[in-house]
Amino acid sequence: MQKILNYINGELVEPSSKQYIDNINPATGAAYSLCPDSDERDVELAYQAAEAAFENWSNMPSDNRSKILLKLASFIERDNDKLAKAESIDQGKPFWLAQKGEIPRAQQNIHFFATAIEHYASETHSMGGHALNYTLRTPIGVVGCISPWNLPLYLFTWKIAPALATGNCVVAKPSEITPMTAFMLSELCIEAGLPKGVLNIVHGLGPKVGSALVSHEKITAISFTGGTKTGAEIARVAAPMFKKLSLELGGKNPNIIFADCDFDKAVKESVRSSFTNQGEICLCGSRIFIERSIYDKFKAAFVEESKKMKVGNPLADDTKVGAIASKMHFEKVLSYIDLAKQEGGNILLGGHEVNLDGENTNGYFIAPTIIENLAYHCRTNQEEIFGPIVTLTPFDSEEEVLMMANSTVYGLACNIWTENLNKAHRVAAKVKSGIVWINCWLLRDLRTPFGGMKQSGVGREGGWEAIRFFTEAKNVCIKM
Ligand code: NDP
Repeated sequence: MQKILNYINGELVEPSSKQYIDNINPATGAAYSLCPDSDERDVELAYQAAEAAFENWSNMPSDNRSKILLKLASFIERDNDKLAKAESIDQGKPFWLAQKGEIPRAQQNIHFFATAIEHYASETHSMGGHALNYTLRTPIGVVGCISPWNLPLYLFTWKIAPALATGNCVVAKPSEITPMTAFMLSELCIEAGLPKGVLNIVHGLGPKVGSALVSHEKITAISFTGGTKTGAEIARVAAPMFKKLSLELGGKNPNIIFADCDFDKAVKESVRSSFTNQGEICLCGSRIFIERSIYDKFKAAFVEESKKMKVGNPLADDTKVGAIASKMHFEKVLSYIDLAKQEGGNILLGGHEVNLDGENTNGYFIAPTIIENLAYHCRTNQEEIFGPIVTLTPFDSEEEVLMMANSTVYGLACNIWTENLNKAHRVAAKVKSGIVWINCWLLRDLRTPFGGMKQSGVGREGGWEAIRFFTEAKNVCIKM
């Protein structure tokens, strides 16, 4: 079986423990490769390598850093289909989704930040003729990046690209559920000539590798994407150490459909925002609120359109919904269907696992599931499920829908569907989420602030926000 290796000090190495964890293909339920079961010894080796590399990397002219990163981005583009296939097998997502969306986005992440540093200018603040202030922005040092399993290479590169571009050295931990493309990236880093120690990738379990990273005395900034519970644990450990923290956490996003929407578009995009990547995207809309006058019509069209979301082998061209990423998550998602039934939910579509034939007999497949008749404050409507499950709820007024939309502890993203521009702006201003899409979903400009309010996170990623996070500001004041 193929062995994934850590990437430390520019080399592919075994974990100190020499122990490995089975890496499962969720579409077959079978182990197909081995992921290092690393521990704090590997994190320490990675830290030492990063620390030794920092002086040269941080002092390198930014156009030289940019060139190396652009080369890395070009190798991702060259290997797009190979990486997409690996991502599909590792995570369960349809191949075409990785091929057309996620791997190209991983390339763009690196390209974007490699070029951003060529254009960055820090501020000056003049005090008339008396004095001049200028702001120096310097890299932090060795930073930690921890990423989840749902969009593996996409979210991994979204963190490491701004960290590296701004001159930091990185110790990174991908999710042990989906380690393959981060491993392949480490091979590309070697090929691209990334100086040794600049990026180190330590594979393994969160409570071992992740927590060793977070509690490491000398790693002074942590950029984390994952669940709210893990984010809280990271904050608990890191806050007393005064680490800089960026936390991108869970969501329970509302999708608000007004009666004056472009109906066909709202239906089609709502299906996409509900079931893309099996609903395992933090930005998926999982609570659909529909103005009562079009509730029945929308429900019928939404159920009809959702029936086209074929569940199947992730590598097949006509598959729209692949496998759930892990057995544990599969069981968690199914348990929420049981909960919804107990809470009085009426299942309009799906509501069960899907048993496929052949090599996929033991895979983790769940049918796109649509549920109505649930109170907005019940657990099914308040807790993050992170699977192909959505609820439909009617509303009568703007005030009512805002109250329901804002009722969870989360505040990541929101979709609003209306052709009335005034209403769109009004609701967008009042909804408590870091990202609002009007008449679209997942339309991303990498320059915009990305992140959530309330328990969906602390801080923002993207554009200058990421560059600011990964640098220290120092004001220099000169008296004239
Ligand atoms: P987890 O919080 O379980 O894990 C995220 C990462 O943290 C993994 O690499 C995990 O390792 C690691 N980890 C686990 N425990 C610790 C610890 N004690 N210290 C340090 N690191 C640790 O999230 P999931 O992987 O389950 O990802 C799904 C979650 O991510 C959802 O809640 C989703 O909403 C959120 N998410 C948020 C996004 C955003 O931008 N706001 C984007 C994408 C996802 P291991 O895998 O070994 O457990």
